[in-house]
Amino acid sequence: MEILAHYIAGEWISSTSEEYKDDVNPSDFGQVLAKIPLGDESTVQRAVEAANNAFKGWKHTPGPGRAEFMHRVANLLAQHRQDVARVVALEVGKPIGEALAEVDRGVVILRYYAEEAVHPMGSVIPSQVPGSLQFTVREPVGPLGVITPWNFPVAIPLWKISPAIAFGNTVVWKPAETSSMVAVHLMKIFAEAGLPQGVINLVLGSGSKIGKALVASDGIRAVTFTGSEGVGMGIAQQAAQRNIKYQLEMGGKNAAIVLPDADLRLAARLIASGAMRYAGQKCTATSRVVVVADVIDSFIDHLTEEVKALPVAPAIDANSAVGPLISEDALSKVSYYADEGAKSGEVVLGGKRAQGSLLDRGYFFEPTVIRNVSPDAKVAQEEIFGPVLVVHEAKGLDDAINIANNSRYGLSVSMFTRDINAILSYIPNIEAGMVRVNADTTGVDPHAPFGGMKSSSSHSREQGPAAVEFFTDTKTVQINP
Ligand code: NAD
Repeated sequence: MEILAHYIAGEWISSTSEEYKDDVNPSDFGQVLAKIPLGDESTVQRAVEAANNAFKGWKHTPGPGRAEFMHRVANLLAQHRQDVARVVALEVGKPIGEALAEVDRGVVILRYYAEEAVHPMGSVIPSQVPGSLQFTVREPVGPLGVITPWNFPVAIPLWKISPAIAFGNTVVWKPAETSSMVAVHLMKIFAEAGLPQGVINLVLGSGSKIGKALVASDGIRAVTFTGSEGVGMGIAQQAAQRNIKYQLEMGGKNAAIVLPDADLRLAARLIASGAMRYAGQKCTATSRVVVVADVIDSFIDHLTEEVKALPVAPAIDANSAVGPLISEDALSKVSYYADEGAKSGEVVLGGKRAQGSLLDRGYFFEPTVIRNVSPDAKVAQEEIFGPVLVVHEAKGLDDAINIANNSRYGLSVSMFTRDINAILSYIPNIEAGMVRVNADTTGVDPHAPFGGMKSSSSHSREQGPAAVEFFTDTKTVQINP
């Protein structure tokens, strides 16, 4: 069993006096994978100090030098892809095929931002003063707090840390407790690639203690967060009080619309996949389907067939499509919503804890489909973060768009149709940051801007060129003759 440690100023820090928590395999909760040290405010302060010291040098390291380091990290991650994916599958229950794809995505993200580090940033602006030279430069913001969730334990930290360091910032990274082991493995790769001391520091422990302390720390100039809405709103208040930059990516209640002319088999396959793979534990997972009445029964027949074809199995099993939920609390939460759905609607499939010789020792829940619930019902409104899909019936396109928009969230939406006029009406009227057609709600290219509308985000965008906005500040310079 691995005893995990914080990584601060280039050193692994563990102390025997520290409190530890068991890190268990959600596919087999009898297996303790590691011991997680629970850091405190002093751990955070030490890491923030290290990030501040390192910032003085890293901000002046030329872009090509930062890029070279990031390419070395990308090469090492590609080399260790099997090992890292295995830790992802064991620790957070992501089916191994998806875990490998996530690690590969991490490599692409690192390479993308390594290239961004050598792109021109800033512009020359004509001046009112004759002979004057006026231009803008983009400078790093400073030492940053990076707070990440457990569900994409490789890709999300990398799509925050990569632009942060590419543009000259330094980082204190606080991953979710339940993904501490993946974080330590990534940190080992950064260290092996020759990470300059203090440029990235890792602190492990509880969010309410060290996450909060990180956001409150005077030495942190901006916070980038992905996680639940409640925690994100607390961070927004804390950050606003100190007038520091913040970026929040939060929950979703993503809908897929199916029109009568759609390829129903394709729609059913992609919706089943978007809703059930990784047990629905993606911010972009499909959790509502809105089907125009004419085709609802035949769509549900296809959907049932596709959902049944997805194997529920321990994440490390090569065939697994639907792994376990992350924890016992998550299992109770999903069971509660499935029961709520059963009371107010009709359960088409699933509805209870999954059983079987390989499943009884894990937090598995049956892929669940519920119909005939009101679009205002709890199960149709609140983020469940489990394999539970509700099916609504709509009268036509406008009604379908209204039902899809009837949510506090606005992260990702998809529509299935071949009708270009319907598509042209859907794009301007749908309220979501990610708008997709004949695609599931979950897949997004790693170089495309990513983020939500309404309560799903703080309205900034991650990934791709959008990251420059958050991870740099603009300085306008005028030089008179
Ligand atoms: P969470 O909000 O419980 O935790 C996220 C991170 O915040 C963790 O590192 C946690 O330790 C930390 N944290 C907790 N309390 C804190 C506090 N008071 N101050 C500072 N930090 C604190 O979320 P989770 O369970 O890890 O992840 C699931 C959630 O993340 C879902 O709501 C999901 O929709 C969302 N998510 C969103 C996106 C997106 O891009 N929109 C992507 C993935 C996950």
